[in-house]
Amino acid sequence: MKRIFALLAAALAALAVVVVARACTFAPPQLEPVAPVELDVDGEGAARRLAEAIRFRTISHQPGTPSDPAPFEGFIRWLVDTYPEVHLALLRERIADHTLLFTWPGSDRALAPILLTAHYDVVPVIPGTEDAWQHPPFAGDVVDGVVWGRGALDDKSALTTQLDAATHLLRAGFRPRRTIFFSFGHDEELGGRVGAAGVVEHLKAQGVRLAWSLDEGSFVIDGMLPGLELPVASVNVAEKGYLTLELVARGEGGHSSMPPARTAVGVLAEGIVRLQGAPLPGGVDGVTAELLDALGPHLHWTARLAFANRWLLGSLLDKALAGTATSNAMMRTTTAPTMLSGSIKENVLPIEAVATVNFRLHPRDRAEDVIAHVERVVAGLDIEVRAGTSSPPSPVSSTDSEGWHAIVRAIRETQGEVIVVPGLTIAGTDTKHYSQISDDSYRFNPMRVGPEDLTGFHGTNERVSIDNLARATRFYVQLIKHAAE
Ligand SMILES: [Zn+2]
Repeated sequence: MKRIFALLAAALAALAVVVVARACTFAPPQLEPVAPVELDVDGEGAARRLAEAIRFRTISHQPGTPSDPAPFEGFIRWLVDTYPEVHLALLRERIADHTLLFTWPGSDRALAPILLTAHYDVVPVIPGTEDAWQHPPFAGDVVDGVVWGRGALDDKSALTTQLDAATHLLRAGFRPRRTIFFSFGHDEELGGRVGAAGVVEHLKAQGVRLAWSLDEGSFVIDGMLPGLELPVASVNVAEKGYLTLELVARGEGGHSSMPPARTAVGVLAEGIVRLQGAPLPGGVDGVTAELLDALGPHLHWTARLAFANRWLLGSLLDKALAGTATSNAMMRTTTAPTMLSGSIKENVLPIEAVATVNFRLHPRDRAEDVIAHVERVVAGLDIEVRAGTSSPPSPVSSTDSEGWHAIVRAIRETQGEVIVVPGLTIAGTDTKHYSQISDDSYRFNPMRVGPEDLTGFHGTNERVSIDNLARATRFYVQLIKHAAE
């Protein structure tokens, strides 16, 4: 018995040595130093242009409600007046009326082209929240170094700073060797099914295959994890898919004074409760594992101990990460019941009760897997599972391509000291379309944001600083140079 305890103690001691040693050697990679690039760009001008762009109410309403074309036409005319050099030197085509495709032809046709993209439609302001805005959402106010309004972050600032960068380069006499496309979508907030999809069809018809593309989808994030001092530039290499299911329970109907033991609403409610209690299996692997490996060495000691020893502490770490909504979304396909309907009147028994459940598919899952999971979970409840809209998760792009290295270099030259990591976009972008014609697709906006800025995203008080606009312009200038020189 004593021997067994001695052996056990020795094994535990050895394990502790391994765990601590792994944490000690879990250090950030030694990177070649990069000289910061201090290009002289006009931040005030960039702010003025973005403020003007914000004043066009280019709103994408829920499908079925018509969008007014006038602000979109106005925006396109404003672009012509505001970016004359770009309109002179680049070919501009209108795709599906309001999406714009610019082509900057390269001198070497043997090089595969690249695509920089943004969208200029915005989500509506939620009725009733207008008064919560410190500056009206479509006024385009510039106050104390900050541009306020809907689209400041999502995503008009990416569009204007890309065109500011192109203008800067044209004025400097720059001529790309590689062809560069700029695509500016008008219906991203509706899934890009007309605009970005139209651009893809148009380019496909010309036999275009892109080396890589860059879209929105993440930022330079301050305070990403507790204990992390440096900002994190998350260059997202994949994007989750989308699936909506309807759960339908049926009943006999009749007067509510003589109900059955369970009405259709009751059955449906149990189905939803079961579903929320049975999340899709998940865990740290693929992109999320790469992300944690890149962040881990920068964390404080206890977190480093856990991150460096995922082989041993993986399930504890999974539990901890599943506890917050954002990290949970990085690990698995999420389940969100969002809409409900039942009877038409309070004293009428429902003949049908319907719940709408929205899933965001992790790259490891397919729609069929999720449908099978849901059917298993509600088995025995007499609930029909009906499939609605879906799009698959994107492929995962390389972190060792020319595009990746050009993006990382431009970040390090223009964003100060930051940690660059690959990440996963948990919502959708137009790149679900562009990735069909691109070898690699990246998602990153060169704006530095903190948790307080992210509430502006589709919410209230959306804003961006002039410093950010200047840094973003420098980033796109450097990126185009590295990619196309
Ligand atoms: Zn967006």
